[in-house]
Amino acid sequence: MVRRAEVIRTCVGCRVRASASELLRVVAVADTVSTGVRLVPDPVRRRTGRGAHVHPVLECLTQALRKRAFGRALRLSERYDVTELETFVADHTIRVTREVDGGHTGVRPRKQGR
Ligand SMILES: [Zn+2]
Repeated sequence: MVRRAEVIRTCVGCRVRASASELLRVVAVADTVSTGVRLVPDPVRRRTGRGAHVHPVLECLTQALRKRAFGRALRLSERYDVTELETFVADHTIRVTREVDGGHTGVRPRKQGR
């Protein structure tokens, strides 16, 4: 079924409202106890569960991480692993900024320690 109505979501990084199709859906996946919770990108928005939305750019991802916005949006109390999400956004950002900015990829947020 095709729904044409635009879904508006708020980016958890910059807090700007945008069409859901411009934002990357992020879901928390709980693995085993040892690995804890992972944040994973859900570009096709098929995963079940609570999702947070962020612009797929490092700037917004970094802001969201700094503010712990994912923890709030996804109701996570534990520390979470963002490696997959960072990789996805970094790849995406490189593709976009190469056209705009001659390959400048910005600053990668540091991995959260364990
Ligand atoms: Zn944003």
